[in-house]
Amino acid sequence: MDFLEINADLHIHSKYARAVSKRMEIPILAEQAKLKGVQFLGTGDCLHNKWLAHLKENLKGEGIYTYRESETKFVIEVEVQDKDRVHHVILLPSFSKAEELREKLLGYSDNLDADGRPWLRIGGEKIAEFVLESEGLFGPAHAFTPYFGIYAHFNSLKECYGKYSEKISFLELGLSADSYLADKISELHRLTFLSNSDAHSPYPLRLAREFNRFKIKEFSFEELKKALLQKDGRKVILNCGFYPEHGKYHLSRCKKCLTFYKLEDAKKLNWRCRNCRGTINKGVKDRILELSDCEGNQERPKYTHIYPLTEIIATAYSIKSFYSKTVSEIWEKFIKKFGNEIKVLIDSPIEELKKIDKKVGEYIEAFRKDEIQQIPGGAGVYGKLLPLKKEPDVEFFKYRQKGLGEY
Ligand SMILES: [Zn+2]
Ligand SMILES: [Zn+2]
Repeated sequence: MDFLEINADLHIHSKYARAVSKRMEIPILAEQAKLKGVQFLGTGDCLHNKWLAHLKENLKGEGIYTYRESETKFVIEVEVQDKDRVHHVILLPSFSKAEELREKLLGYSDNLDADGRPWLRIGGEKIAEFVLESEGLFGPAHAFTPYFGIYAHFNSLKECYGKYSEKISFLELGLSADSYLADKISELHRLTFLSNSDAHSPYPLRLAREFNRFKIKEFSFEELKKALLQKDGRKVILNCGFYPEHGKYHLSRCKKCLTFYKLEDAKKLNWRCRNCRGTINKGVKDRILELSDCEGNQERPKYTHIYPLTEIIATAYSIKSFYSKTVSEIWEKFIKKFGNEIKVLIDSPIEELKKIDKKVGEYIEAFRKDEIQQIPGGAGVYGKLLPLKKEPDVEFFKYRQKGLGEY
């Protein structure tokens, strides 16, 4: 049997999680995943009773599940928050294992059904024990983000997962980090990195805005497990996602007036803003630099930087709203020609793209050559792409970014 190369986004949420679109349902996800170009999705929120019922009603299969005749496959997945406010991603091999885990966790949560991302009164070690009993896989979600990442609360994997730290199957980078940054921490070298979207809406602007390309033999939970554990030639061969600068927690920044700070200055100021006395939020980059004990890891699969096509089109044409008619018309032209967004962003020749739209083709070319200019993100505000060859005017964008309603 030959190897398959498939694009996967293994962490999303359902309409039953806080601040998530009501359109986050399986039929819509299956259809939008095809337009985006991902073949494999996490279900999100599988411990929530209503979402679990929706999943069982819509998905058929064993280990890996399919919606009707669609090409989109799903793995049973949930993100949970532990007693230390650390988020974990969990992948499970069947509905019955999800039900089993739910039963066990009922006693450790005030209400498992209050939010698709449940809050648990236990720590990472106990969660790991339960997941292993259910033959599942687990790893920290968006590991470096300031409020809910493992490294916001701990200095090592072991501090969180205790005796199960060797059993972690992956680490999710989150939007504000990439492989190159994360590999400055040597305890992570052995782990597969996942770049997932954590999407709260099913459209290609959000779904699989970060994704992973897997090399596996077939769609099965066993194959997924082998790939995450890098066994028998199965593995992640490519991570794709934002430039870390685009993430909303990338640099250290004042939460109130959005002034950026270097790590040493923020420390000297005891994390109080020099201008407004607001709190300085420690960025992902500085947190990684604090923990850094090496230069990197040459063995790691490539990390390709991309943004959603809608955002690229809007920036190339200096259109403020990603939802404008012009933007969607150009987007549709590309999808009609190339079939899906990922093919446009990373797989198709630039010359072919320019035939559809020169400006957008040039912008994607700049991505592939790493010639993008942008205002970095920080303190909960996403970064902002700039038109080509425009110097970033940080002072100006600092205030404009506050009003970027789309985010
Ligand atoms: Zn989370
Ligand atoms: Zn300030």
